[in-house]
Amino acid sequence: PLGEEIKVNDYTETMAISDAYNKTLKRLRILDESRQQFVSNVSHELKTPITSIRVLADSLLSQEEVPAELYQEFMADISEEIDRESQIIEDLLTLVRLDKASTELNVTQINVNELLGSILKRLKPIAQQKNVELVLESFRPVLAELDKTKFTLAISNLVENAIKYNNRDGWVKVSLNADHKFFYVKVADSGIGIPESDQEHVFERFYRVDKARSREAGGTGLGLAITKGIIYSHHGAIKLYSKENEGTTFTVRIPLIYIA
Ligand code: ADP
Repeated sequence: PLGEEIKVNDYTETMAISDAYNKTLKRLRILDESRQQFVSNVSHELKTPITSIRVLADSLLSQEEVPAELYQEFMADISEEIDRESQIIEDLLTLVRLDKASTELNVTQINVNELLGSILKRLKPIAQQKNVELVLESFRPVLAELDKTKFTLAISNLVENAIKYNNRDGWVKVSLNADHKFFYVKVADSGIGIPESDQEHVFERFYRVDKARSREAGGTGLGLAITKGIIYSHHGAIKLYSKENEGTTFTVRIPLIYIA
């Protein structure tokens, strides 16, 4: 009978609504947890340099006469910790701006070959310190609609990492290719590689495979999160292929034409 049929539909509908409600609640809970985790990570990361500064300053203050050499050494360490703190804050601000302003890209037509050339030229001195060879391979001329500053930051982060996590006398190869819809930038290195179990996490904020090594190289653990944010705001994609002790390749794919 008709009455019963309506009852069945009502019931199904109610179940569907409560299902959707539960799903939304679950999503919100996950979001809230990840936000709390982020705030806790931020606090921890910001505290680390401050703690070092505190220890260094206390140690200087507790001595009546500090030898000039020791004073110099401790002050240099303090100065380094301040630089680290500034870098974390700067990276955090970049991330926050990316989060809320994905639509606010300052897009112009860019000659990608030229831009990659200038990025590599700027990073050459850092590569030379480790005798790492930097090579650019352009398979075709590429003009694309990009936010020049942000795209430069995204690719610089990848190349800087490729140098940072490389061995002495290694190489970094950046290549550019395109089809009718996308262009592709590959950043390949002969470095230490990323263990398979870490690969899915390296784009997370503050995730580092080897904390000490990252810290020594001046890392904040935010570089890849920033790069991913920038690539995504250009409607692009990024993936990585890596083998421990052999090297890593990041591939970026971005549409040639930007659609807001
Ligand atoms: P960091 O400031 O520590 O470099 P990133 O977000 O740029 O932070 O990278 C996250 C982590 O991913 C690094 O700490 C490092 O362990 C790993 N990683 C990134 N790029 C490479 C690479 N080219 N080779 C090996 N490991 C890498």
